[in-house]
Amino acid sequence: MKLNQCIYIFTLGFLVVACKGEAQEAEVNQEATESEVIIHTEYSGEEPTKPEGTEFYEPIPPVVNPTGNNGAPSDAIVLFDGSGFDQWVMTNDSTEVVWHLNDDGSMTVKDKTGDIQTSQNFGDIQLHIEWKSPAEVQRDGQNRGNSGIFLSGLYEIQVLDNNDNDTYVNGQVGSIYKQHVPLAKASVPTGEWNTYDIVYHAPEFNSDGQKIKSGTITLIHNGVLVQDHVEIKGTTPYIGWPKNPVHGEGPLKLQDHGDNSRVSYRNIWIREL
Ligand code: MG
Repeated sequence: MKLNQCIYIFTLGFLVVACKGEAQEAEVNQEATESEVIIHTEYSGEEPTKPEGTEFYEPIPPVVNPTGNNGAPSDAIVLFDGSGFDQWVMTNDSTEVVWHLNDDGSMTVKDKTGDIQTSQNFGDIQLHIEWKSPAEVQRDGQNRGNSGIFLSGLYEIQVLDNNDNDTYVNGQVGSIYKQHVPLAKASVPTGEWNTYDIVYHAPEFNSDGQKIKSGTITLIHNGVLVQDHVEIKGTTPYIGWPKNPVHGEGPLKLQDHGDNSRVSYRNIWIREL
């Protein structure tokens, strides 16, 4: 055997041994304890041999016209369409809303009057809401076009004019305030309308007042996923840790930040999940 043949055979042998070692490692990594194995019971039993064996006809999903309720989905509850505040009250004392009702079908925060919230309470929801900060820029940081959308009246999704206006990232636009940094900053230019599409699952509590399941939030900002099914750790205070008070269904609340933010909202609708 010539020297180069020897080298070839040696190298081949080394590669075979190396590959075998990797394969064994992969086998070990694929092992899972019984509790980790997910069993999909609908696909158990004898495997079907015809296509019909895996085609189901129930439950039948309801038909929803995506724009059938004045532009909102036909099964949505329209909370604000520009015609008035009949679904809303002032948070402080449940009296009539005094925020500005505009001719273009929107509303604007009236400074230092307080937050507003829906009269109706909700649990798990899909929420569509549009907002804009004033075109005329004023102040910096958290004091530029700050408002917020509180799910169950407790958990704030930040609304902020963040364009050329940096702030702490867990308080920037699209954050779950002081809990989750958004995956992206997806704002349109200041003064234009942003959309938030939100999927919210409320936390669950047992009779002893302990949280047994965390709430979750998914947020799509102008078509961009910025919160991906994140866990709500508790309330979203300005100062202090998140708290976990027991609650059931709650209102949707919009924030008056108290510094003449002049944030506007329009086209608000909810689908209960
Ligand atoms: Mg805010």
